[in-house]
Amino acid sequence: MNFDLTQGQQEIIRRAGEFAERHVAPRAVAIDRTGEFPRDLFQAAAAAGLAGLNVPVAYGGGGQGVLACVGAIEEVSRRCASSGAILLVHNLLVCEAVSTVGSEHQRDAVLRKLASGEWLGAFALAEPEAGSDLSSLQTTAARIASGYRLSGAKAWVTNGTSADAFVVFAKTGDAGLTAFLVERTRGGVRVGTRTESLGVCGSGCCELVLDGCEIPAENRLGAEGDGIRIASRALDTGRIGVAAQAIGIGRACLEQALDYARTRRQGGQAIGEFQAVQWMLADMATDIDAARLLTWKAASARDQGLACTLESAVAKLTASEAAVRASGKGMQVLGSRGYSRQHSMERFFRDSKVTEIDLGSSDIQRLTIAAQILA
Ligand SMILES: Cc1cc2nc3c(=O)[nH]c(=O)nc-3n(C[C@H](O)[C@H](O)[C@H](O)COP(=O)(O)OP(=O)(O)OC[C@H]3O[C@@H](n4cnc5c(N)ncnc54)[C@H](O)[C@@H]3O)c2cc1C
Repeated sequence: MNFDLTQGQQEIIRRAGEFAERHVAPRAVAIDRTGEFPRDLFQAAAAAGLAGLNVPVAYGGGGQGVLACVGAIEEVSRRCASSGAILLVHNLLVCEAVSTVGSEHQRDAVLRKLASGEWLGAFALAEPEAGSDLSSLQTTAARIASGYRLSGAKAWVTNGTSADAFVVFAKTGDAGLTAFLVERTRGGVRVGTRTESLGVCGSGCCELVLDGCEIPAENRLGAEGDGIRIASRALDTGRIGVAAQAIGIGRACLEQALDYARTRRQGGQAIGEFQAVQWMLADMATDIDAARLLTWKAASARDQGLACTLESAVAKLTASEAAVRASGKGMQVLGSRGYSRQHSMERFFRDSKVTEIDLGSSDIQRLTIAAQILA
C-alpha cells in the first residue's frame, strides 16, 4: 500500500498541526481541569477548514477524505484529546453519516451548516442499558401524522452539551433501527449536564433525553430499518478516528518521555542512557508507528470506497492499546513527575483509556476481527 500523501493531504495535516500548536495547546490544561466545552475552539477549527474535511466540496466541505482527516485528528489530539474527540465525532461520525445517506435536502440544509462549523454535530447511539449490544436499544420513534415522535434516553453523547444537531438511532416498530436528524431546538429535546469522567473532560459528553420529541418525516436519515447499516458504516469510519486520537495521545507521551530522558540526570548520567529507559522509549516508538500504519491503511481503504470493517477494528484495537501502554511507560520514565498534576503525562494517562472503550471496547474489536477473518 502506498502512503505517499498528496500535497492536499500534507497541507491539511500541516495546517491542523499549526492550528493545534497555536490555539489548542495553550488551552489543553484548562479544558481538562474545568471540563468546559471549548466551543470557540471548534469555531476556530472550522475557520481553519477542519470542520468539514470529509464533506464533498459541493456542500461546502474540504473533500479531503478520511486519511487527511485522521492526520488532522492526530495532530489535534497530540495537544488535547478532548479537542480531538470533538473533531472526530463531528467529522467522522456525523458529517460522514449525513454525507453518505442524507437526502439532497439534508445535505443542502444540514451538511452545509456542519461543514462550515455553523452547527456542531453529535452522534447519539449508546444508551444507559445499550452499549456493545445494539439490539438492546430502547429509544423509540413512533409514526405520527407529521412524521415521528421520539422517546428515550441516550448516554455518553460526545459534543452533546453544545451540539446543534444530533444523529439519533431509534427503534421503528418491526422495521428495526432507524436513524434521524434531531435539531437541538426541537420541543422535547433535553440535553443533560456534562457527564463527569476520568479523561477527555472537555468533550461535552452528556445524556440526551427525547421526551416525546416530534420531528418531520424529512428528518429521517436513510430508509426505515436502515439504522444498523448506517451506524455500522459510521462506526467503521469513527473507529479510524479514535485510532488517530489514540496515536496523537501516544505521540505526546513519547515526546514528553524523550525530552525527560534527555534532561533528567541520575547516577551522573541522563536517564536516557539507562537501557531500561531506552527499551521503554523504543517500545513506545514502535507501537505508535505500527498503529499509525494500520490506521492509515484503514483510512486509505475507506477513501477508496472499500469495506473497512476489519481494517478499522484492527486499527482501533492496535492504536488504543498502544496509547494506553505508551501513557503507562511514559509515566514510568517520568517517575514521580509523571504522577504529578504539574506534568501533562497524568492527563495523557487518563485520556488514553477512553480509546479502549469509546465506539466499541477492545473486546468488541477482537470479536469483530475474529468474525471477519473466520467468515
Ligand atoms: C468518553 C466516552 C465518549 C463516548 N461517546 C459516545 C458518542 O459520542 N456516541 C455514542 O453513541 N456512544 C458514545 N460512547 C459510548 C461508548 O461507545 C460505549 O460506552 C461503548 O460502546 C461500551 O458500551 P458500554 O459502556 O455500555 O459497555 P458494555 O457494553 O456494558 O460492556 C461492558 C464490558 O463488557 C464487555 N462486553 C460487552 N459485550 C461483550 C461481548 N459480546 N463479548 C465480550 N465482551 C463484551 C465490554 O467489552 C466491556 O468490557 C462514549 C463512551 C465514553 C466513555
